[in-house]
Amino acid sequence: MSFKQKIGEYIWWNGKKVKTEEAKIGLFTHSLHYGLGAFEGIRCYKTTDNRLAVFRLPEHIQRLIDSCKIAHMNVPYSKQELVDACVEVVKNSGIASGCYLRPLVFIGEGPLGLYPGKNPPIEVAIMAWEWGSYLGNDAKDAGAKIKISSYSRGHVNSTMTKAKLSGQYVNSILARIEAVENGCDEALLLDTDGYVSEGSGENIFIYRKGVLKTTPLTSVLEGITRDSILQIAKDFGIEVVEERFTRDELYCADEVFFTGTAAEITPIQEIDHREIGKPGPITKKISQKFFDVVQGKDSKYSKWLTHC
Ligand code: PMP
Repeated sequence: MSFKQKIGEYIWWNGKKVKTEEAKIGLFTHSLHYGLGAFEGIRCYKTTDNRLAVFRLPEHIQRLIDSCKIAHMNVPYSKQELVDACVEVVKNSGIASGCYLRPLVFIGEGPLGLYPGKNPPIEVAIMAWEWGSYLGNDAKDAGAKIKISSYSRGHVNSTMTKAKLSGQYVNSILARIEAVENGCDEALLLDTDGYVSEGSGENIFIYRKGVLKTTPLTSVLEGITRDSILQIAKDFGIEVVEERFTRDELYCADEVFFTGTAAEITPIQEIDHREIGKPGPITKKISQKFFDVVQGKDSKYSKWLTHC
């Protein structure tokens, strides 16, 4: 195995601690062929008191359980067992600086056709790796350059937006490839009615006329960072609304930023060759608070941290 990132030493796989290099799956794995799997992306940060803390771990595990329910996959572990397993993976990872956690639920070997049967073999694995700035340090500091994708987010009756399902990411991957091949850092997808939806792996916020706006949950993943930012902004007394908006409103916004576990808070400096500019004061204020919160510097939000 060769990776750019440092990978955790052990994987939690169906309740067992397995050495990462020994964790292999077979070619007949159902999810590998057809994409019915559910996953999470969770960050674990080093806190100021030199401990490690997972950010909003129970919320991520709840979303994983919800994703599995939507996908007809019966997870054979309780929420608490999965929370504990994530903590164990962090402790066994050998990564001291904080890591990214990837729980993955998938259908193993057995069913060959699309219909997986009543009780397909469900596999649960939790991996860890070190992950820096998802869209690169330049994008994180100076702001990302993005483009509206030629691909749409799926219709609500085809894309189950409350679920973080493996197969749904084909749409995201195609959009990301298109954006990168066109010299941008990330894609922004519209929904099937033409309204702004989300990035390939991020929710989006705009600040315009003194109001912080994000898309309603109908066509986007229920982002946990999005929810955290809504709460932080409200606590600052910033007016926030969740409503549909169009791409031209985006072009005229004073500030625009992405939120996501991997992307954290990434300012956006350019959209479709229209300049938004350097990260603005609201983005900076919210971003500063977010990084303080994840590092345990603000006790008001300590309920969001699970110490390992
Ligand atoms: N939308 C999509 C499509 C995503 O993949 C992600 C990343 N999980 C997000 C939004 C942001 O969600 P979260 O803040 O929970 O990571």
